[in-house]
Amino acid sequence: MNYSKRQQERTLVVIKPDGVQRSLIGEIIGRFEKLGLKLTAMKMCLLTEEFVEKHYTLDPEWRRITGEKRIKAAKEKGEKLETEDPLEITAVILEKLKKYMTSGPVIAMVWQGVHATELVRKMVGGTEPRSSDVGTIRGDYVLDSYILADSDGRAVRNLIHASGTAEESEAEIKHWFKPEEIVNYRLIAEQILYDVNLDGLLE
Ligand code: GDP
Ligand code: MG
Repeated sequence: MNYSKRQQERTLVVIKPDGVQRSLIGEIIGRFEKLGLKLTAMKMCLLTEEFVEKHYTLDPEWRRITGEKRIKAAKEKGEKLETEDPLEITAVILEKLKKYMTSGPVIAMVWQGVHATELVRKMVGGTEPRSSDVGTIRGDYVLDSYILADSDGRAVRNLIHASGTAEESEAEIKHWFKPEEIVNYRLIAEQILYDVNLDGLLE
């Protein structure tokens, strides 16, 4: 099968330490498999704090965007934050994230297929499980909130990381995987997903 560029879009998914401890590895992988995406790399790893910081700051805008997201959520809920400076907020979050992401093993994966980044994010749901949609991984399998996590001085436990944009996906995949760890292969199911003429089904 010749894959178009679109069909070769790749994205990074990481099952965070709480996802592993909640025995949700199979459930999470199953969702992406059923969607029709192809798993092209997977490994279990223990992370260092340096690796976690690099991962979250690959996108130079991440600090600002994540801080602003927290401010917006606080406004909607009428919560009072200690600071209104997005970068100060994210500096605190980053320290908590280092502790969270190094607390136990994680599972890193590369999933491939058309619209991979967008579809994975849709299935993962919004950052805060409390407000993530029903039917999403974060909405269905965990109950954490910004207010609880912030008052307990820890990162929001939301089971899973997924790249936010196609550019973020490529940068994150490079950070997590060597090229030889990613396997190029054909998945039989892709014929029914992508083959234009569906030739060869009938005897
Ligand atoms: P994601 O792309 O949906 O994972 O969200 P971000 O990239 O903005 O944030 C990265 C991770 O930091 C999230 O998945 C949460 O685990 C954690 N986090 C983000 N915002 C907050 C916050 O306001 N408070 C706390 N305690 N943790 C947060
Ligand atoms: Mg993110």
